[in-house]
Amino acid sequence: MAATKEIILSGIRPTGRLHYGNYYGAIHHFIRLQEAGHCCYYFIADYHALTTITEREDFFRQTLDMLRTYVACGLDPKKSVIYRQSDLPCTAELTLLLGMVTNIGHLERGTTYKDKMGKLAETPGAEGNPLSYGLLGYPVLMAADILIVRADKVPVGDDQRQHVEMAMDIAQKFNHRFGETLKVPAPVSREALRLPGLDGAAKMGKSEHNALDLLDDPDTVLRKLRGVQTTTDPLPLNVESDDPDVVIPRMPPTVGVLYRLLNLLAPEEVYLDFLGKYRRGEKFYGMLKQTLAKYVSEFSAPIIERFNDPANNDESVMDFLRENAKKVTPVALNTVEACREAMGIGHSLFRA
Ligand code: ATP
Ligand code: MG
Repeated sequence: MAATKEIILSGIRPTGRLHYGNYYGAIHHFIRLQEAGHCCYYFIADYHALTTITEREDFFRQTLDMLRTYVACGLDPKKSVIYRQSDLPCTAELTLLLGMVTNIGHLERGTTYKDKMGKLAETPGAEGNPLSYGLLGYPVLMAADILIVRADKVPVGDDQRQHVEMAMDIAQKFNHRFGETLKVPAPVSREALRLPGLDGAAKMGKSEHNALDLLDDPDTVLRKLRGVQTTTDPLPLNVESDDPDVVIPRMPPTVGVLYRLLNLLAPEEVYLDFLGKYRRGEKFYGMLKQTLAKYVSEFSAPIIERFNDPANNDESVMDFLRENAKKVTPVALNTVEACREAMGIGHSLFRA
């Protein structure tokens, strides 16, 4: 049991299959915090997925498969409260209340919003409902997810840093206007990861078609890694340090992602050996990709096996979703009722 038990909350959108950015940016920390005995709420963000998902047929299937992947990675629905966001509809009620203290200009300056708008300008109509109120309001919904369980910490990747800051800001504004009601979560840790895409883009993403997926079989892993562009000559590192945070940003982006993965998945000496080859300008990319593919597939083999375990099926997932929705609901309703009270609406007349 943790010395000080903290409330942890984080979610992942069911927009595709989990990749190594999701794993090392989020899931890896979920498991660590679960095993340390904290009070962990981990949800599948199906409301959030609606800002980009347009294929209704695959949506529920993807949600279930994402939950089976959670279990395969080591998340335990008996130790952590694992639920589906839409099974906690009072999150939508809190979103509405928090919207009253959220500045539109603040939302319009959000980097994720601006990025998505930029991409849509290049390929209009590609993401379903581009100019939606839902896309602009994404950070308010995320603030509701966090604040509704009174989270102390939100383990997310570096790409979500600004959204957590917005949630902190919204909670502070609410408390300032209506009195101390909401717990302000801690900011995202400075060590939070942002894994680049296999195409060298700043971020690997489920919706970006540039990901190495956790459930990729060994042939796919090798094919994807071989496809990473390494024709660029190594740039001199001009630095003694072997620290990945120092050397990787000095490499061409596509080479950087290979070294980041090697650092995460292979023993230290293997990473250092390939770093030496890089410094000496040897011809080594073929060997690097093959070696990395081996470590990736060794890591993922037990996860793939547990994903396919007959006991890890749709029924078992739906059973724990029902159980855990029952656990989180009273906690969440308590917060919503406190906000209603603080704003002067008063308690719901039909809830207990
Ligand atoms: P999408 O492209 O559909 O938004 P995504 O890969 O960005 O998918 P999310 O569901 O938005 O995944 O985020 C789930 C978690 O994974 C968040 O904590 C997020 O910060 C983290 N995450 C996503 N991509 C990366 C990445 N490249 N590096 C580190 N963490 C990441
Ligand atoms: Mg994302």
